[in-house]
Amino acid sequence: MTQTTRRTFLAAGAAAFTHAVIARAAYAQAAPATAGPVDPALIDDLVAANRILVDQGVVDGYGHVSVRHPADPQHYLMSRSIAPELVTAADIMEYDLDSTAVDARGRTSYLERFIHGEIYRARPDVKAIVHNHSPSVIPFGVSTAPLRPLYHMSAFLGGGVPVFDIKAAAGGATDMLVRNAALGRALATTLGARPVALMRGHGAVVVGPNIQLTVFRSVYTEMNARLQAQAMALGGPVTYLDDEEARLAGGSVGGTVVRPWELWRKKALAR
Ligand SMILES: [Zn+2]
Repeated sequence: MTQTTRRTFLAAGAAAFTHAVIARAAYAQAAPATAGPVDPALIDDLVAANRILVDQGVVDGYGHVSVRHPADPQHYLMSRSIAPELVTAADIMEYDLDSTAVDARGRTSYLERFIHGEIYRARPDVKAIVHNHSPSVIPFGVSTAPLRPLYHMSAFLGGGVPVFDIKAAAGGATDMLVRNAALGRALATTLGARPVALMRGHGAVVVGPNIQLTVFRSVYTEMNARLQAQAMALGGPVTYLDDEEARLAGGSVGGTVVRPWELWRKKALAR
């Protein structure tokens, strides 16, 4: 390549890049249209989910929970960027699956909202998602000990819990945050068809067919991790639920989720 053609080539590349940036900026500014109003009871459940997850030690000042929009599977609902314990109905925002806010009105969004948009895109069966830094699960994301179902309450962990390594997904070191759609897609790929994936050096993502079961799974993933570490610390082999036990227990316990949900919701909203 001569000096001139090389310069022309670079200039063309720069122009294309500039166009791409302008196009993306214009796209980002064009907010998607709303999918319409949502039943206030669903918003209340989403607010309750935020507070329950705090009460149960699954989230603290960080972490988020979303629900798919009931009228449009291409949209989801999630709080603006505040601590889960402070979330009220007025904080709930609507996003499309690119995780662009419908009506931001100056409100800031969670940096890691792409976790939600990309999992909803990849998993039509998923109607609610929790992202957390649930403390007891962290060791299982960074060690060789796999998280396994220790008791009937966490039977949904049967079949394996994948671990997402952001370094492998990004091709190098990052700030550990799923801050763009490509990383969100990689996380969704690691999750596959499972209800839970751990995120190495970060936390976990938990999904389900409704808010109640997703909160339940989040609480009992944390609980299982704590109990499993205790069982392993006792020394000697640990007996986990086998695949058939996990399948049977998952079916039975999964049908009782409303019981703890009503208790947790009442306590959480009373505060
Ligand atoms: Zn996070």
